[in-house]
Amino acid sequence: MKNKGILAVVSGFSGAGKGTLMKALLQNYDNYALSISATTRSPREGEADGREYFFLTEEAFEEKIRNNELIEYARYVNHYYGTPRDYVEQKMAEGKDVILEIEIQGALKVKEQYPDAILLFVMPPNALTLKNRLTGRGTETEEVIDARLKRAADEAEGIEAYDYILINDDLDACVEQMHCLIQGQHCRVSQNLELIQQMRSQLKEL
Ligand code: 5GP
Repeated sequence: MKNKGILAVVSGFSGAGKGTLMKALLQNYDNYALSISATTRSPREGEADGREYFFLTEEAFEEKIRNNELIEYARYVNHYYGTPRDYVEQKMAEGKDVILEIEIQGALKVKEQYPDAILLFVMPPNALTLKNRLTGRGTETEEVIDARLKRAADEAEGIEAYDYILINDDLDACVEQMHCLIQGQHCRVSQNLELIQQMRSQLKEL
């Protein structure tokens, strides 16, 4: 039987470069499945429904909450964001390593439900880089950028709940490090209980 996949949660301040990092990870390696979240925020230019997000109305989102279709959900700068349950469960059962790119409140809820999940926090080399990346992206108003920077300061208070920090300075190095950390999880005892049982019975038969 194929081992279950790893659940990896990736968080980081808005503008830390998570999106680029995820893209590179998925391009370089083929055992990953990136979960697509539902959100009530509007699509940015270039974003497509069902690709970056499932864009939902508040009503449709709240119905998913009621039907228990989301592993977790959170409010982030005035909008709902949540992780659909079916996709994650299915891909993990297929042996895929599933990546959730979500904010901190959601990450903590995932850890409660999936204690073996690995929690990674992506940071830019310094705070000014963050501000410059957010401004340079040109997709948000000044007001939204300010709200996101304020949120970053709040989120920085919760980083200790994560397992690993990734500094996103050199993209390739960061992707490599992320891949190694996630793949390392396959060696955890909790990930290999069946193998251990098999070995025990084989030993008894010798
Ligand atoms: P953005 O609007 O920039 O795409 O995302 C805003 C924040 O929401 C980011 O920190 C992103 O990681 C987070 N986010 C995206 N999807 C989810 C989700 O399904 N659940 C939670 N809790 N946060 C999410």
